[in-house]
Amino acid sequence: MSDQKLEQEENSTGGDTKIKEVKCKGFKSFQRSTAVPFYEGLTAIVGENGSGKSNVVDALSFVFGKRSSSLRAEKLTQLIFNGGENRSKADFAKVTVTLDNSSGVFDEFLEDEEEAEEVTVGRKVTQAGSSMYKFRGHNVKASKIDEMARKANIDPDGYHFVRQGKVTEIVEQSDKERRKVVDELSGVAEFDEKKDEAEEAVDEVEEKLQQQEIILNEKKDH
Ligand code: ATP
Ligand code: MG
Repeated sequence: MSDQKLEQEENSTGGDTKIKEVKCKGFKSFQRSTAVPFYEGLTAIVGENGSGKSNVVDALSFVFGKRSSSLRAEKLTQLIFNGGENRSKADFAKVTVTLDNSSGVFDEFLEDEEEAEEVTVGRKVTQAGSSMYKFRGHNVKASKIDEMARKANIDPDGYHFVRQGKVTEIVEQSDKERRKVVDELSGVAEFDEKKDEAEEAVDEVEEKLQQQEIILNEKKDH
């Protein structure tokens, strides 16, 4: 690989970020605007059964993740606060995630000359079923959020969001299966995949080469 290519590869993979805050309004059990701060190191959220702890993780999936399947809801509108028995339902659900940008990992997504220690990404769903993604308060395409996640090495389909029940599942796995999880987490799996792809490409080229050789030999014979 040439130096230039190597440099590109290095630049294309992401840098560091941290979630600083998750704010929910009208999302699932959060009727009023509720901000959950994440501190340095480990942040634990404790509360009674059904008090909304997992909903905080759902809020992250809502913004970053698989588009609806992993949110424990069949339809997006089911994510909007439903009022329960005594209160009225909310008009929309909105989640805003504040991400650390002190490493500059998201600088390429800012306007020229703009600087930001932190950036917000969000998503809103209305009762009419429309869904909007936000970057720093402005509407953006979902693909922008996907790009940002990729840039920051956030893989919503991987093991960055480990859901309830998943921990037990991992503990109960066979060594081989657990190895797969570790490989995926450490990024080895991605290289294994690339290696497989490269090997396939080599096979294809070799096959083509053989075909050309046959044609060449046939021409020589004539
Ligand atoms: P556990 O300790 O049992 O895992 P938990 O703290 O993780 O509980 P969650 O699963 O986050 O709890 O929250 C479940 C609660 O969220 C339920 O009480 C459910 O009624 C409420 N909830 C889910 N969707 C909505 C909605 N659209 N509107 C209002 N409340 C909702
Ligand atoms: Mg839970």
